[in-house]
Amino acid sequence: MPWIPRGLRNGIVTSRYPQTQDSYGENFRAAIVIRPHQYDLTIAKKVVDACPTNAISLNENMPSLDRGRCILCGRCEELYPDAFQFDSGFEIASANRGQLIVPSLEETDSLLADTKKELAQRVKALKRSVHIRHIDMGSDGADEWEVAALTNPVYDVQRLGVYFTASPRHADLLLVTGVGTVGMVSSLEKTLDSMPDPKIVVAAGVDAISGGLIGRGYASNGGISKMVKVDVFVPGSPPTPFGLLYGILLATARIPIWRAGTCSGAPRIMGKPLKQADFGRPRDDGYLSEENP
Ligand code: SF4
Repeated sequence: MPWIPRGLRNGIVTSRYPQTQDSYGENFRAAIVIRPHQYDLTIAKKVVDACPTNAISLNENMPSLDRGRCILCGRCEELYPDAFQFDSGFEIASANRGQLIVPSLEETDSLLADTKKELAQRVKALKRSVHIRHIDMGSDGADEWEVAALTNPVYDVQRLGVYFTASPRHADLLLVTGVGTVGMVSSLEKTLDSMPDPKIVVAAGVDAISGGLIGRGYASNGGISKMVKVDVFVPGSPPTPFGLLYGILLATARIPIWRAGTCSGAPRIMGKPLKQADFGRPRDDGYLSEENP
């Protein structure tokens, strides 16, 4: 029984996130940030052409980047390191699709606040326990590995009252991965119809958000947004388990409004160690809430 001494030696490995920040999670490559820079248009155009998913575009000669399309291949950083850089962290999910485009516009900020308020009202009943139905709409399998990791001893989402269920009739949250294959559309609709209200939809990974590398084609709808109303978008290719956990907490309004969506172009938190003051005071049950910042 080698696992007994190993367990005793390692101690408790389960993360305390979101009660406290997790330094392990902060090490993940999360997104590309655009650095303030005197942009060289010739190189910037080369980067636009090199991006395999058209995530980068030039707007009045300024680059902008859609994290909902970025597969984190690193080509932009390789070609133009002065302007593009990987940033670490994981709290990059957003309740607003426009917020994934960086630098974000002011109007998406105010729109985001409204969206989150509406979402918080809708999911009031789900704060202590949420059941997730996962549906694969044509994923390459990478997203599923990360989703499965949520139940391992490190992330252990059950400690937060988050459970996976096989039946849509027991589910509150629909977690969708994959590019949105045409053949799965009716299954998605039937699953969503079978879920009781309030129901939330989370698009997990750039495939579900935009179709990723495959995009739109004869067999792919280029993500799920055209088929269902998505409440929370979790970028990443694949998203990390911490990224998914953050998205689930955001979808169930367990992240304080002032803290959620902090990676919106201006890297206000990403890449920097968070201070205790950045966090809400844990409630007695260990959850964070907007009412108790
Ligand atoms: S890292 Fe993202 S933005 Fe950069 S080239 Fe790759 S897909 Fe495009």
